[in-house]
Order: sequence, then C-alpha cells, then structure tokens
Amino acid sequence: MTETIDAPAAVKPINHWIAGSRYAGQSGRTSPVYNPAAGVQTGAVDLASVEEVDRAVQSAKAAFPAWRSLSLGRRAELFFAIRELFHARREELAHHLTAEHGKVFSDAVGEVTRGLEVIEFCCGLPHLLKGDMTEQASTDLDVYSIRQPLGVVAGITPFNFPAMVPMWMWAPAIACGNTFVLKPSEKDPSASYLTAELLKEAGLPDGVFNVVHGDKVAVDAILEHPDIAAVSFVGSTPIAKYVYETATRHGKRCQALGGAKNHMIVLPDADIDMAADAAVSAAYGSAGERCMAVSLLVAVGDSAEPLIDAIKQRIPNVKVGDGMDAASEMGPLITREHRDKVASYIETGRDEGAEIVVDGRDSCPADGFFLGATLMDNVTPGMKTYEDEIFGPVLGVTRVGTYEEAVKLVNDNPYGNGTAIFTRDGGAARRFQFEVEAGMVGINVPVPVPVAYYSFGGWNNSLFGDRHIYGPEGIDFFTRSKVVTARWPDPATSSIDLGFPQTR
Ligand code: NAD
Repeated sequence: MTETIDAPAAVKPINHWIAGSRYAGQSGRTSPVYNPAAGVQTGAVDLASVEEVDRAVQSAKAAFPAWRSLSLGRRAELFFAIRELFHARREELAHHLTAEHGKVFSDAVGEVTRGLEVIEFCCGLPHLLKGDMTEQASTDLDVYSIRQPLGVVAGITPFNFPAMVPMWMWAPAIACGNTFVLKPSEKDPSASYLTAELLKEAGLPDGVFNVVHGDKVAVDAILEHPDIAAVSFVGSTPIAKYVYETATRHGKRCQALGGAKNHMIVLPDADIDMAADAAVSAAYGSAGERCMAVSLLVAVGDSAEPLIDAIKQRIPNVKVGDGMDAASEMGPLITREHRDKVASYIETGRDEGAEIVVDGRDSCPADGFFLGATLMDNVTPGMKTYEDEIFGPVLGVTRVGTYEEAVKLVNDNPYGNGTAIFTRDGGAARRFQFEVEAGMVGINVPVPVPVAYYSFGGWNNSLFGDRHIYGPEGIDFFTRSKVVTARWPDPATSSIDLGFPQTR
C-alpha cells in the first residue's frame, strides 16, 4: 500500500470515530484516498494502531450494558429515526461514494437505497428477536428460548460498497443489542465517517457505533482482541479465508464473505436482446467492481453468435466518464494500480488464445483511472482470464454445446456466489435452480442480490462460515440463544392498575 506521512494541505484528513466523536489518529500513518475520476489524491485516512483499535473496543464495551438493556420498543423507535435520517441524507452519502469510489451517482444512490432496505428490515427488531415458548413441557414446567446479543462485535468491509456493506453489518448488529466497531476499506472511508455522524444525530448513544480506519494492523488487532465476540467480513477470498481462520482461532464467531466469478448461462431459446441488455448491465455496471457482477457469459449452442453481436452493438453506447456527470453510465476503477491490473488481463487473454472482441483501452478518458467495457470471446477453463476474479469491466464468453456442460462449468468453479440462467423454458430454469451450486441464483435476473428479508451469501470459496449476511441469518449471526426451563410456585401476588398497559 502507498502511504503518505505528510499529506499536502489540500488533502482532507479522514479520522476515526470513537465514543461518539472524531478521533484524530496518533499512529503517524495514513493512506491516500483518491478521486478516481480525476486521478488525484483528495484525502489522507488515518491508519489505526493496535492501541487505537483497543480504544474503540473499550468505547463499545462501555456502551454495551446500557444499550442491551434498552427496551425493544425504544430501540425500534430509534431505528425508525435512523431510517428517516439516512433516507433524507442519502444523496449526501452517495456523493461520498462517487467522489472516492468513482461509481456513477445514480448507482451510488442505488447502493444507499439497497442498504436502507436492511435498516428498514431491522425496524422490525422486536419481532425478529422473539423466542419460542412451550407451556407445560412437564407438569407445571415451561420451556422458552430467548435471543441475546453477543457484546462487542466488529465489521471489516471492502471498497466496492462503502455504504451498503457496512449497513449489512452494523444495522442487524446494533438492532440485536450489540455494540459495534467498523473497519471500513481505507480506499473510500468517508461514507463510514458520515454514517457515524448520522447515527449520532439520529440519537444513537455514544460508543454503540465506532469507526477505526486502517490496514492489516487494525484488522489483526480486531481479530485478536479478547473483547470482540464476533467478526463479520466482506472482501476478497484470500483475506476472507485468513480472517475466518484467525478470528475463529481466537474464539470468535465469524462470517467471512469472499470473492466471486459469476457465470450467466444463456440457452438457445432465450430472448437474445434481453440477455444482451442484462449481460451489459451486469458486467459493466459499477465498472465490474461488484462481487455479483457477471464476469463470464456461457453461451449454449447457437446462442453465441447473435449474443456476441448484440453485446458488441451495445458497448459503444455505454458512456464512460466522471460519475458526477449525469450522462455517465460507467465510472473509473478504484485506483491506478487496480486499473492497470485489470487492463493487463486484455493482453493475458490475447496470449492465452482468447479473441479480444472489444478492447476497453481504446475508448476511455485519458485522466483518471478509467478502462472501457471489454469483451473477450473463446475464454475457456484453465486460462487466467477464466479462473481469476478480474474485478473490472471485462466480460469473457465461454461457448459450450449443451446445458449440462454449462452447469458443470458453474459447479466446477471454486467460487459459488451468484449465477444466472436466461431461458424461456420453465423446466430448464427449474432444473438449474435445483442442481446449480451457488448461493444466489437468478432466473432471467442477472444480479440476484436477495431482498433484505432474505439473506445474502455465496457457497464454497465465496463464504467462510455458516451464516449468510443480513436478513434472518444476520439476526442469527448477531445473537446467541438461551433456553430457560422454569417451574414456579403458584404466585399469589396481584395489584390493581387502571392505566392502559405500556410497552416502553
Ligand atoms: P480486500 O480483501 O482487499 O479488502 C477487504 C478488507 O480487508 C479491507 O477492509 C482491507 O483493509 C482489509 N485487508 C486487505 N488486505 C488485508 C490483509 N492482508 N490483512 C488483513 N486485512 C486486509 O477486498 P477489496 O479489494 O476491498 O474488495 C473487493 C473484493 O471484495 C472482491 O474480491 C469482491 O468480490 C469482494 N466482495 C465480496 C462481496 C460478497 O458479498 N461476497 C461483496 C463485496 C465485495
């Protein structure tokens, strides 16, 4: 990682948020934050020391007893206030995303909106935290289960959804009565800082939500901290595996979502125009920097020629530019290094024998970290362009003869995040749903990110741990259950109160 010790004056310092206030880092280490559309440094984010992570954890620990004791009615009331405030300020949040990540503004607003759905789900927390009850399990004996929070929990998040992925974590964690330490991506950290300010403004008590910025030092301090009960992670597969193994070795509950290589299968009977629109949207939206992006198109039988033609026609119309320009549909990549790495796959693909149908290097703005939409044909298993998660606007086409060959490709892949099939045949779609090995499946839907009342997660190397994120499994992850077995003497106590019963 590039580090700057003395940031230029025009560069904004981005600090931690601990115990309800800004906390300027003392480690002497910072990391540059860029406006990727201009290619210039705009910020310098603090990188936390082990002591600073501990300070945030102690703040969360101190806030926990009062927060877990707050009635569910009051907690839900606060969640409604949080929802209203984030909804009202969603464009401000989206501005931070476009400024530091580069995604186009409409996409950034879309990210915040999908994150808001998780907050809305959490407004139902009294219902979500209900346990079970069995009366008279034995004579005069009742049994019931309750869900309790874990304590201090942490979230570690990737650069590609700087507002939404943290919401997947902090909203259910806090709704369940935990207190939270967030370690966002150091590449686009400002959305987390604004999140902290908004939560305070909505009335969240100090210390319930903390932000420490940082790199491996901060991540390791979280994974090893004895006062952190659980870690939720989203990022690339090698780091997800490392986080899962380290956190569990230190006795923590952990869910670690990793990378992906998502196949979209197109059967010969599919509506080719619809499939081409979907492939272009899903491969090049957010410049391909989505874990649910379609990166491989599996063309079955004679669907390949018309499909490639239709995509080729559409690519010149994808307007690449600064995300703040309303005409732009695709923004830059996150850093110069990442853009160069993604672009290098075009030569790699050529060397491996793929055909470069559209070369994105030919059609992108000179300033900033841009790469245009790229299309490669005849990408086959064993090639780096087939196996690697490229994480940019590069779509590979793999041609196969049959449905069976197509499904085998998906099931043989080490990832298993999202996949989709395009067909008019209900039987084929039903069969695909039954036999494909991936956590999220689209039927004529290219990016099947589940709604907030289901849970999000892949299989195989796309998830380490046994709980998916947000939705019902998110509530499971951030609570532990307790079963009470009770027998009471017949109580002879009673009193009179004519007031209407209150819940608060
Ligand atoms: P990343 O793995 O580089 O970083 C994720 C987090 O880990 C960041 O907070 C980073 O600071 C930290 N980190 C990085 N290197 C580390 C190290 N050596 N030791 C400890 N911590 C480290 O991922 P990224 O580049 O920010 O995000 C893109 C990746 O995330 C892609 O692989 C994408 O598929 C994946 N992703 C997955 C999902 C999902 O739901 N499965 C969602 C979004 C992104």
